Amino acid sequence: MAENNISTQEYNLCCGCKACADVCPKNAITYKTDGEGFLYPVVNDDCVECGLCRKVCPELNVLKPTFEQEQQYIACLDKDKERRDKGSSGGIFGLLATALIDKGYVVCGAAFDGQLQLKHQFASDNDGLEKLKKSKYIQSDCSTVYAQIKKKLCLGQKVMFVGTPCQCNALVNVIGGKRDGLVLVDFACHGVPSQELFDKCIKYFEDKNGCRVEGYMFRFKPKRYGSPQSYLLTIQKNGHFILKAGSYYEEPYYYGFQRYITLRPSCYSCHWANTDRVADITLADFWGVESITNKWDRTDHPSLVIVNTEKGRQLMDAIKNHIDWIETKREASVKQNGSLVHPTKLKEERSVLFDDYQNLPFEDFVNKHLTLRNRWKKDVYYAIPFPIRKMFLKITKKI
Ligand SMILES: Cc1cc2nc3c(=O)[nH]c(=O)nc-3n(C[C@H](O)[C@H](O)[C@H](O)COP(=O)(O)OP(=O)(O)OC[C@H]3O[C@@H](n4cnc5c(N)ncnc54)[C@H](O)[C@@H]3O)c2cc1C
Ligand code: SF4
Ligand code: SF4
Ligand code: SF4
Repeated sequence: MAENNISTQEYNLCCGCKACADVCPKNAITYKTDGEGFLYPVVNDDCVECGLCRKVCPELNVLKPTFEQEQQYIACLDKDKERRDKGSSGGIFGLLATALIDKGYVVCGAAFDGQLQLKHQFASDNDGLEKLKKSKYIQSDCSTVYAQIKKKLCLGQKVMFVGTPCQCNALVNVIGGKRDGLVLVDFACHGVPSQELFDKCIKYFEDKNGCRVEGYMFRFKPKRYGSPQSYLLTIQKNGHFILKAGSYYEEPYYYGFQRYITLRPSCYSCHWANTDRVADITLADFWGVESITNKWDRTDHPSLVIVNTEKGRQLMDAIKNHIDWIETKREASVKQNGSLVHPTKLKEERSVLFDDYQNLPFEDFVNKHLTLRNRWKKDVYYAIPFPIRKMFLKITKKI
């Protein structure tokens, strides 16, 4: 077997970033879905063993930052609630991106296409930016994106890239560390399920309800849903458009994601589940914000922003008039955000789940693994106004 290409990369040490195909001079790399629905590289006979794919692979070349200055930890949110609600937490991505578009940057982030396939796409104006906003809890397809960004930077264009920490590491490997004109933003990341599982859950819903799902929004934020993890479906039925909202545990795909049992194998040994980031800025939810202020609680969806570089600091200064913010310490920031401290723990159920995924009829699989029993308990819990839940969480020392 060839030693100098990524075909020897271990199955659970491939995060699926797709940087390897972007740099292959022989187009010898394609991606094939495994039984669990995740894509992995396959190298064909055109390979000349140049080794470039191994050089850019983030799993083989994990970057460690050399911080020129102390990192800053900031709890913050967009002052404008309407704009903030377009983001998953405090809407900080939207503000940063708008500030950079005004300076001539093109922004690259994850957006659904017309078939609900999640792909990294470019936006050069505020209309185009809208579809990049909000977390989509699926692995985003970054095919050709790294090469396109490298080309744009070489031509003197300015780019903001937002992605998972593994995608950001891959991009820096591809561009060879020359970061002039590039603003890099990553986020706290506990892992990604596959596009295939998402597609199957959508089809299951469509078949069951005799409709077509046109849109899926994670992190929908209406007041009447007490769970911070709610969704909004846009459904087409009999020629009419209907909106259907619910909490994560009412929808099989979102429920599996929130239970951390459907993630890609590499996510359970993630190299980036810490605060050692090469991005200029790291975004996250500020879970546990109640421990640093009485001004906000989790129903305000504040963001945690970690400023890693001088470029990141200047960028935060540029949006400071639009945000409410509190500077805080690392310890308080990561206390309730496990994915900034350690990789997601692999549960035993995962291997049974994926055996069943491959062997059971899909409906039986969903009923067995992706359906919450005794749902009423969560309904009751989330129907309790947060100030009362907060007292309970304080008594049980959860906040
Ligand atoms: C798969 C995933 C797992 C996450 N896990 C955690 C976690 O464990 N803890 C935590 O605190 N925060 C996590 N986050 C981050 C969190 O959901 C928010 O994205 C973050 O707080 C920024 O919110 P915002 O309102 O500033 O920006 P938003 O408007 O929500 O912007 C999110 C940005 O992320 C990009 N993006 C969205 N989906 C993807 C994707 N699948 N792949 C790559 N880029 C994407 C968008 O293009 C956009 O640029 C996760 C996000 C994702 C996508
Ligand atoms: S070693 Fe070179 S030619 Fe072979 S797959 Fe990797 S990048 Fe392509
Ligand atoms: S981690 Fe990325 S670069 Fe490495 S083998 Fe997997 S897809 Fe290719
Ligand atoms: S958990 Fe780690 S390996 Fe998985 S998508 Fe996030 S950064 Fe990549």
